[in-house]
Amino acid sequence: MIFELWLEPIWQRLLQQVLRQKIPHAFLFCGPKGIGKTQLVQTFEQLLLCQSPTKDGACGQCRSCYLYLQQHHPDFKCLSFDDEGIGIDDIRNMSHYIEQTSHQQGRKVVSLLGADKLLPASANALLKTLEEPLGDAVLLLVAENLKLLLPTIKSRCFIINIPQPALEIVNENHQQRIALMQAFSEGNVKAFEREDIQQFIVADPFAALYLIYYWLIEIIRYALQSKTDFLFNDVNENQLKSLLQTITTTQVFTFLDNVQEAIKHLSLPGVNKSLVFESLFCQWQDICQGEKKYGRA
Ligand SMILES: [Zn+2]
Repeated sequence: MIFELWLEPIWQRLLQQVLRQKIPHAFLFCGPKGIGKTQLVQTFEQLLLCQSPTKDGACGQCRSCYLYLQQHHPDFKCLSFDDEGIGIDDIRNMSHYIEQTSHQQGRKVVSLLGADKLLPASANALLKTLEEPLGDAVLLLVAENLKLLLPTIKSRCFIINIPQPALEIVNENHQQRIALMQAFSEGNVKAFEREDIQQFIVADPFAALYLIYYWLIEIIRYALQSKTDFLFNDVNENQLKSLLQTITTTQVFTFLDNVQEAIKHLSLPGVNKSLVFESLFCQWQDICQGEKKYGRA
């Protein structure tokens, strides 16, 4: 499954929880509209139901995956506000459904989209459900505004806060951002040892990686369309031009894959962050110096 970059670390964390069988009974996914919550939650639903999850996600082959994809899984239910809203009876039915034993001897998964839109009576019924033992069921609540939820509901959930889109992330840390981009334009590993760059990487490694990622997109866009995006209005066109005389877009695409891998890698526990960056910087230097040996990390 390929996610938007800012969802990738969250997805990796969820995947680890499932593979290690350490799954909370209730999740609360929270983030602004249009950020990719639905895609993330749906992928997670299938993963939770899958009978043989792999390191990449649901297997897509087992009976459970088949039933889920056909939208006929007896152990899955989704409540949403799309049709007639969610009333107190819907929440009570949901509780009742959770109490029953599962059909496929696995977990039961119930998603509730728009948990922040529940009226007080329904929200209280939901709280009651969360207070009861949920057995093998996993409840996935999805909300846009965390402030509209009862604190008692929040405290019973494992909260997955979906961060601001990468665009906003990369627009923070202005000075360090420029320093990092400058070092990249030079394509010289020594430049990355600068103190402000090292500080940036340690303080916010994901933002640094997103930044590199979007900067590479800029290079590709410039190579293909001769224009840059609004994202980096301080990007130096001459630098891009001279860079593109040394490197090919194919190389940039390949390196982009490596950055994406690094983002995945970074979300695993116990990873040496500076090693991840060091390896990326060396690969980039090799590309810029035109070494033919360059390959995938
Ligand atoms: Zn499966």
